[in-house]
Amino acid sequence: MSAPLDRSTTWPYEDGEQGEFTYARYSSPTMAEAERRLGALEGGEALLFASGMAAETALAMTFLSPGQTVALAEGSYYGTGVMLDELARWGVRKVEFDQTGAPPPDADLVWLEAPSNPFLTMPDFESAAAHPARVVCDATAATPLNVRPLELGCDFVVHSATKFIGGHDDALAGIVVCKRTEDAARLLAFRSRTGPVASADTAWILMRGLSTLEVRVARQTASATAIAERLRAHRAVLTVRYPGFGALLSFDVADADAARRVETSTRTIANMTSLGGVTSRIEARARWEGARVPPGLLRLSVGLEDADALWADLEQALDKA
Ligand code: PLP
Repeated sequence: MSAPLDRSTTWPYEDGEQGEFTYARYSSPTMAEAERRLGALEGGEALLFASGMAAETALAMTFLSPGQTVALAEGSYYGTGVMLDELARWGVRKVEFDQTGAPPPDADLVWLEAPSNPFLTMPDFESAAAHPARVVCDATAATPLNVRPLELGCDFVVHSATKFIGGHDDALAGIVVCKRTEDAARLLAFRSRTGPVASADTAWILMRGLSTLEVRVARQTASATAIAERLRAHRAVLTVRYPGFGALLSFDVADADAARRVETSTRTIANMTSLGGVTSRIEARARWEGARVPPGLLRLSVGLEDADALWADLEQALDKA
């Protein structure tokens, strides 16, 4: 069933008392229904935010205090590191670590990414779960179909729902799913006081996205697997990074000029940013991440187009590398 869309921002008191919904900065029916469905998928209590970064910022500000250290998986989404660096002014220290091993012992919050974007490494969940600090896992690129971090010992899952969950590049949203009710209550209090909620329309679009998530990700995975294999055999490609599931992969060509020629030569595959949409897109990540990535690194998010057509497009573009 399609969920009702209620755009109200305020609801009447009931006999002078607050009912379930009073004011949309706290919660609203369409957002609450989306949260119920997302929480059920991950096995925890979900809270929706205005963007993935709003979700991440709220999580960091709720569970970190001045003087504390967050250990971030190296090679993870560059925006997470940028956001945590902003919090340095509030006394939060960021250290990076190799998430394929154990997190540093002095961390007050451990931040994983499954798989990391754009390096596509997977965390060592067992070592992270053994760490005494709370553990966050950004599972945007995996989707709940491939990795459910709460079942692997994490305390929070984060998604940029802008990506696979929305799935069509028409809704900006973020999600935090909490394992513990007390943590969800603290985060909800922070969200209610500071206001980075999602709109009812966005919540509704996410629910529509959820109803096709499984078939989208299955087809995208099949195409991405075939493309990764063909890329590995291509003479212009130096390295291919693909974890064996999902639609996201990255590969290196010789240098920045070669990457520019490839990304501007594709026709079926759009030259644009983001990931997880129904249309394939490619981009050289150095434009965003600078020296943090190899100059010839191209990130490809595979969409729903015909896999052979995608490969034909990539092949003609790689011939210009
Ligand atoms: N996490 C990952 C892995 C991402 O790729 C992104 C965006 O690219 C974000 C978080 C941030 O999400 P948003 O763009 O919805 O703020």
